[in-house]
Amino acid sequence: MRYSALSIFLQGLTGNRRWTPAFRAPEPKPYYDVVIVGGGGHGLATAYYLARVFGVANVAVLEKGYLGSGNVGRNTTIIRSNYLLPGNNPFYELSLKLWEGLEQDFNFNAMVSQRGVLNLYHSDAQRDAYTRRGNAMRLHGVDAELLDREAVRAKLPFLDFDNARFPIMGGLHQPRGGTVRHDAVAWGYARGADSRGVDIIQHCEVTGIRRENGVVTGVETSRGFIGCGKLALATAGHSSVTAAMAGLRLPIESHVLQAFVSEGLKPFIDCVVTFGAGHFYVSQSDKGGLVFGGDIDGYNSYAQRGALSLVEHVAEAGVALIPALSRLRFLRSWGGIMDMSMDGSPIIDRTPIENLYLNAGWCYGGFKATPASGYCFAHLIARDASHETARAFRLDRFERGYPIDEKGLGAQPNLH
Ligand SMILES: Cc1cc2nc3c(=O)[nH]c(=O)nc-3n(C[C@H](O)[C@H](O)[C@H](O)COP(=O)(O)OP(=O)(O)OC[C@H]3O[C@@H](n4cnc5c(N)ncnc54)[C@H](O)[C@@H]3O)c2cc1C
Repeated sequence: MRYSALSIFLQGLTGNRRWTPAFRAPEPKPYYDVVIVGGGGHGLATAYYLARVFGVANVAVLEKGYLGSGNVGRNTTIIRSNYLLPGNNPFYELSLKLWEGLEQDFNFNAMVSQRGVLNLYHSDAQRDAYTRRGNAMRLHGVDAELLDREAVRAKLPFLDFDNARFPIMGGLHQPRGGTVRHDAVAWGYARGADSRGVDIIQHCEVTGIRRENGVVTGVETSRGFIGCGKLALATAGHSSVTAAMAGLRLPIESHVLQAFVSEGLKPFIDCVVTFGAGHFYVSQSDKGGLVFGGDIDGYNSYAQRGALSLVEHVAEAGVALIPALSRLRFLRSWGGIMDMSMDGSPIIDRTPIENLYLNAGWCYGGFKATPASGYCFAHLIARDASHETARAFRLDRFERGYPIDEKGLGAQPNLH
């Protein structure tokens, strides 16, 4: 069933009784050409592009919970491609270009909103760093503009420009950045993959990886053994756990990241704003709630909730940036498990184990990467060759001395 304005109109005339489920609930088959572990954004996008672009449709996506129960449904929905380093920049720009055509491509309303992303700077040194980043973006053909203080004030007059500790001097603006309704991305990719023959199997936990003579032949699951030609891991915060099932130790740590939503307000902030002097960023959802977050909690955990100390920290940073927030009430908060890599950049690569492919290390920036990650991972699985924009995301880059350290902070995952 295709979704369109006409179909909504006709369904309305017939009491909305003819809508069909967006995707099936199939029983697992004994064998698939490709099994993808993890029904988050990346696993589903990989299945979608495998079927739609690379002609590989005998594919299963195995998800231990329900679709959207992981980070794809827990993030703060920001998309952007404002990266400095050559290894990152073309990849994230490919992703932004895919976001721009995604809703037409998979025929689902994901509420892609290119409302702009503004990173504020508060010192001369920070302005110089943002100028450098903006220039790198423009050299790669990515949109970037450096705004001075008055240009920022014209956009967002309610910011605390004269804060004694963190005066706002300007910002780096990417007009094509913005937000996307996060769980709709999971549903849209699932629907698109399912309609092309992919089996999406929810409540199916992978508990072991079977190898014969060193070659991966399938997975043990809570619904029995499933054989496969190729096995692809896209389990985000549980990447180390699933890779360990094949005896692989990853350069990844799992950390909690929290997000918050406020009570609904009238239209207030029409772009995404990030504070440059503390861990706080904010946008406004279409329902009116402010959506905001900060840094990871800073300790290893698999719990999808965080500590109160970070709640306090985020609230303080928010009020330092927008004093009016002091009168705002938090509505709810939650946490997700981040797969923090040693250099803050992801891994899309084959592993030393035959037939085992890895998509991991997204840290807290993997939502914006979803389309390009799925596309490039599908390319790797189907052709056994890296896509040109993802060549730098190798698993062995740490031992070879080629980290992609966007923040320049060294091999400490909790700092990226
Ligand atoms: C609070 C928060 C805010 C964020 N904000 C942003 C943002 O604004 N912009 C941005 O770009 N990124 C953001 N991120 C990061 C982004 O959400 C993640 O990097 C990205 O979603 C990870 O990829 P995924 O969607 O495939 O992960 P997930 O949705 O977590 O998918 C992985 C899936 O694997 C499943 N799984 C795990 N183990 C098994 C198993 N053994 N068997 C079967 N299934 C298994 C899990 O249940 C899960 O559904 C944020 C994350 C959080 C938590």
